[in-house]
Formats: sequence, structure tokens, C-alpha cells
Amino acid sequence: MKLLVVEDHEALRGMVAAHLREHGFTTDAVGTGAEAIEAAAVTGYDAAILDLGLPDMDGLAVLRRLRAQRAAMPVLILTARDHVQHRIAGLDAGADDYILKPFELGELEARLRAVLRRPGLRQAHCYSFGDLSFDASCRAASVGPRLMELTRREAALFEALIRSGERIVVRDSLSDKLYGFDDDVSGNALEATVSRLRRKLGALQSSVRVEAVRGIGYRLRQGGEAA
Ligand code: CA
Repeated sequence: MKLLVVEDHEALRGMVAAHLREHGFTTDAVGTGAEAIEAAAVTGYDAAILDLGLPDMDGLAVLRRLRAQRAAMPVLILTARDHVQHRIAGLDAGADDYILKPFELGELEARLRAVLRRPGLRQAHCYSFGDLSFDASCRAASVGPRLMELTRREAALFEALIRSGERIVVRDSLSDKLYGFDDDVSGNALEATVSRLRRKLGALQSSVRVEAVRGIGYRLRQGGEAA
């Protein structure tokens, strides 16, 4: 799951982003409305956390722009404006939830998980391929009764692959889904994540394999023979 955090208060932005990363979300964090719109135009985020009081634009205008770009993306509004009118305006502009500052990081995370679990979205995060099922909202891969929890990066990788079925997913597109702007990405980080994912699929005794397509990327295949 990849999140966009939009908050101009640097310390708060850092805390929120660090907390969400620790709890399994790939997170990009920006401090202005313009950066948020730019980031959302190039990256398919699963959800956004948006502060309404931004230095360059009104948060509600940012929300409308995000909505126009990605209609189904859940957006949680973060704000100190505790007037009822603002709350109504936020919900009218398409916010999925509204969190007043100050807040507990644990509450933010719980509310985020709640909007990501909503029926239409939940369905959109469940996949199957061969003998495997995968629920991206709780990062669980399963084969029959055997269940395996994946780490954030393994899950992001697996989601990108399973969404494409047997089609090849190019390396750059995978790296984009696995890493945020600030992540320090070493040369073979993607290969290391692929290896760990392969070990877990092996432990599940799945017949699904992650096949490397030399110089291009990866894809899922069913059946026994090695790539
Ligand atoms: Ca602010």
C-alpha cells in the first residue's frame, strides 16, 4: 500500500510518515499542495492524508484536485479547524474521514485502515492467481488454509505482479511501487525483495513462481518448471 502524506509542519510530517512506514505502508511525504498534486499525478497512491492548512493552497482545493485525478482514492483530512462548517465542507469535497489535531498516531493509523477496508475498496484489494489468494489490505498471501504475512515491500511487489496476471511488469514500475521518494534504494534491493517473496511462496507450497524476464522485469507464472 502506498500513501501520500501532505502536511506543512515538518516535525509532524516526519512523525506521521515514520509511524506509517513502521506500520507497513510505503509513504511519500510532501509539505505543499502543489507538491501533493504533482506527486499524485505520477504515482498511484492507495490513500492520502491531507492537512487542510497548507502554505500555498487551500487544502480543500487540493482535495478536489486529488479527487479529479483519482476518484476512488480514500483521503483522510487532518486539521486543527474544528468548526462544523469546515468539517462539512471537507466531507462535501470528498474526504473519507476527518481527524482533528492533536491526534494520536495510533488513531490515525486505525482510521486509515478503516477507510482502506471499506467494502468497494476491500474488494479492489483482493486478488487471486493460480492457487494463491492475496489480500493487499492486510498483506496476507494464502494457499488454501496456509497463510503468510508479507512485509510492506514484499506485498507491494506481489500486488503489482498479481494485478498484471502473467503479463511482465517492468523493473522501473516495480521500483516506483516499492519505494518512496526518501527511501535509500541500493542497486539490488528489488532482487533481494524478489528472493524473499519467492521463499515465502515456496513456504506456502504454492505452484505460482516469480519469473525474471532478463533485462525487462518480472512476471508470475503457474506450474512446476524453473524460469
Ligand atoms: Ca498546516
